[in-house]
Amino acid sequence: MQTLKNTSQALARAVLGVAPQKFFGSLFLPGGHAPLLSRKRADMIISRVRMVAGLFAVLTPLWILVDALVFPWPVAGLLVAGRVVTTLAFALLAVSARPSGRLFDAYRALAFMFSIPTLFFIYSHPLLSHFSVAGPAAAIAAGYAFLPFVMVAGLSVFPLTASEGAVFAVPVLAAEAVIALMQLDMLNWASHLGAFWLLMLIATVAILAGMSQLSFMMSLIRQATHDGLTGCFARASGEELLEIQFHIAERSGAPLSLVFVDIDHFKQINDRFGHEAGDRVLAHAAQTMRAGLRTGDILLRWGGEEFLLILPNTDGATAASVVRRLREGGLGKRPDGSHVTASFGVAERAADGAAGWPQLVEIADQRMYLAKIGGRDRCVGRTEEQHAQQVQLA
Ligand code: GH3
Ligand code: MG
Ligand code: MG
Repeated sequence: MQTLKNTSQALARAVLGVAPQKFFGSLFLPGGHAPLLSRKRADMIISRVRMVAGLFAVLTPLWILVDALVFPWPVAGLLVAGRVVTTLAFALLAVSARPSGRLFDAYRALAFMFSIPTLFFIYSHPLLSHFSVAGPAAAIAAGYAFLPFVMVAGLSVFPLTASEGAVFAVPVLAAEAVIALMQLDMLNWASHLGAFWLLMLIATVAILAGMSQLSFMMSLIRQATHDGLTGCFARASGEELLEIQFHIAERSGAPLSLVFVDIDHFKQINDRFGHEAGDRVLAHAAQTMRAGLRTGDILLRWGGEEFLLILPNTDGATAASVVRRLREGGLGKRPDGSHVTASFGVAERAADGAAGWPQLVEIADQRMYLAKIGGRDRCVGRTEEQHAQQVQLA
């Protein structure tokens, strides 16, 4: 039973790229999303808000002519005024929303976008129900009642989690419910209830569509940011993450450690047992390292048989103990049965006074090199480096 569970979890992990609980959890709540996903998602939401707002800034005034022709005065005038204000609001949003990489800005843009038609609906609905209209005007007036449906269906355009989708759908549902309650007459209660029921169904389908957009986006980002052989972050995305972590640490004054890892005598494995055997050893070493890390830690493949381990909120001494734990756990075996070993260089942002992330990498790399010349299969941090310098001087 346990084997079956492990196999199915391993299969799901292979397909999804992460543990299944984590994958499905992240479709419901945004809390566990990786910073890179949040940034890309925020920018995508804002660019789509701009697209939708731009489209409605063009479509809304087109209907002015229809309103002016079919509705009697003063309904027509009031509707046209409402449309002009709505158009201006959409146009303002289309030009002012700017991708910033921050989810807060994306939420604000979405809230602004949804509030425009919601307010227009609340404004126009009583206008049309107070004046009795007939003929073609009645048909056009009925179209106004579809506005909430268009809004909740519009949620499907955005890569949102279920909770976010629900938060944006609720005000529209509430507006519809309030309007229905305001004009509650006994004859029509069934049709109001039916409309509300339909709106709920459309909201559910739109939220599911948003979640599927999000899951598609997550797998695309994963493919683009991860190295196929080892499953670690690839260099380009790793550099982006390192830059983010460096800025966060700098702003908050928190420690940030970096470990440069280079597998010892790796070329020999390729030369003696072939490239494929080398690939297997590499993938296994990366997997063992990843398994020994905390959730916030990031392992990236810097190139070839070199890895960088980013440890946020971790000082040099704790980073050294992380490396000790990794070395004790081992990095797997070579095809001849001997242990895979590596040389490690540890640097810490504050203690080493690194001005930027490239300098931090440089320091960790130099210390890794010291570990190589010191005999490999060891770790060199700030203390070991100073010790080596003192020995040289003496
Ligand atoms: P050292 O202990 O000094 O680090 O020795 P080394 O042999 O590990 O170092 P070197 O940099 O000379 O060799 C690294 C080798 O890693 C060379 C390259 O062919 C091999 N390599 C790089 N990427 C891959 C890969 O994706 N798969 C395999 N199988 N080998 C790779
Ligand atoms: Mg190397
Ligand atoms: Mg090497």
